[in-house]
Amino acid sequence: MNLDKITQQYLDKFPGDFSGNPMQRQTPKVLFSTTDIVEFQNTQLLVFNERLSEEIGLGKVENEEDLKFMNAERIPKNLKTYATAYAGHQFGNWAGQLGDGRAIFAGEIENSKGKKTELQWKGAGATPYSRHADGRAVLRSSVREYLMSEAMHHLGIPTTRGLSLSLSGEKVVRDMMYDGNPQYENGAVMMRTAESFLRFGHFELLSAQNEIETLQKLTDFTIENYFPEIDSKSPEKYSEFFQNVSERTANLIVEWYRVGFVHGVMNTDNMSILGLTIDYGPFSFVDEYSLNFTPNTTDLPGRRYAFGNQAKIAQWNLWQLANALFPLIKDEKKLEKTLNDFNEIFWKKHDEVMAKKFGFNEVLEGDDQLFTDAQKLLEDLKLDYTLFFNRLEKLVTTSDLKELFGDISYSILNEEQLSMLEVFIKNYQIRLEKNTISKAESLELMSKTNPKFILRNYILFECIEELKVGKKDLLNKILVALENPYQETYPEFSQKRPSKYDGQTGCSTLSCSS
Ligand code: AMP
Ligand code: MG
Repeated sequence: MNLDKITQQYLDKFPGDFSGNPMQRQTPKVLFSTTDIVEFQNTQLLVFNERLSEEIGLGKVENEEDLKFMNAERIPKNLKTYATAYAGHQFGNWAGQLGDGRAIFAGEIENSKGKKTELQWKGAGATPYSRHADGRAVLRSSVREYLMSEAMHHLGIPTTRGLSLSLSGEKVVRDMMYDGNPQYENGAVMMRTAESFLRFGHFELLSAQNEIETLQKLTDFTIENYFPEIDSKSPEKYSEFFQNVSERTANLIVEWYRVGFVHGVMNTDNMSILGLTIDYGPFSFVDEYSLNFTPNTTDLPGRRYAFGNQAKIAQWNLWQLANALFPLIKDEKKLEKTLNDFNEIFWKKHDEVMAKKFGFNEVLEGDDQLFTDAQKLLEDLKLDYTLFFNRLEKLVTTSDLKELFGDISYSILNEEQLSMLEVFIKNYQIRLEKNTISKAESLELMSKTNPKFILRNYILFECIEELKVGKKDLLNKILVALENPYQETYPEFSQKRPSKYDGQTGCSTLSCSS
């Protein structure tokens, strides 16, 4: 591995706390604090993403030193590891300073094309931002993050990535359901990568502290490095920056709707400034379609982060970012316009993507009604979102509707529901006639837009149960399947959630505990 090529640009670009003091505390005026990793003793590498490692310029694991680096056992002497400070609005309330509480940066690596990628361990120990917690991660949540971030990547959705996943060799205590039953669980450490891990919360923190000079520096740095579409010399660059973040965010949420992804904790500290999916906690795909579905048990009964709320919440989060950037933009009207435009941009992209899901080559007048009708049908009939579109691809006549759609409902369809389905399908077929592409082209559009494999929570649950007893078969199978989500690599993965998992914690709902 090219460990000697790892650089740490934050250390000389931004104000930091170099004391190395691990005590949890407020760190005003700085963007990061140097902090040591825990140096685990008995790690075991479970997965290493060699292809990603090569792609980003880090290369293969070649020796003990490389392995120890990945597993947070030992790091090269020249590296000063660090955690960044950010703030955030959690569940709608200002939470003040948060920061990397269980993530520690190794720095960044550049590949042969000059592209830089940041490297971070998750679960490698406490930092000044751990807020009375241990900075550790359990196997359960690390498996979920590693696999899901890779699954999202292969679905073509902007995301942080998983580079490696290891057992830390430690036992970690967690009260999984927050019900006074703490238990020992296997500790884990993963290395994850992103072009940048900067969140809305980084900008919010500096702004709240009135550190305008550093805020400006960070915004300039972000524009120059990650927003090539913005002219960094333009006097309008900060408002263009906000517009771009807003657009990338709209795009991300549309992509989540395309595949039925529910993030579960869209706090502003979990919003990437680059529009990546970040911080995989109590996420889920929707199995039975429901706009009201939240996988996060902490989010009940408010359902702030429910499936159908994600665009509205993204806009609310952008509002907080607008406030944070105000000292640089100083133009309320412009910010408000961008925030209002979010709706239009979101719905335009949303309808374009929905059209593709249905195999339409363009959005026509009246399609929005068809999409709304589809939502209602899916909800009323408790249909599986992913399988519904897969089955639409197989639709030839309306005579076999029961056969085609009967087994993808999470209830038993009665005659009335079947006739609702028939009415919808007939309207759909009339609409398909207006396509100006061939049937084959329409089907191709659908198969490229609608995944055949989504990493459902119950599959992750089974994988974690197996890993607990030392079996890796399912893990390896998932790793193969997630690389080709638009194909049906394993038919058993392309079925609805088995009824034995209804209501099972970890299969449809989860707590935040990780
Ligand atoms: P999350 O809800 O996972 O985005 O986390 C919110 C904040 O809590 C972040 O600042 C995390 O770094 C911190 N945090 C969560 N779990 C832990 C942990 N086990 N140890 C330290 N900090 C944590
Ligand atoms: Mg977080």
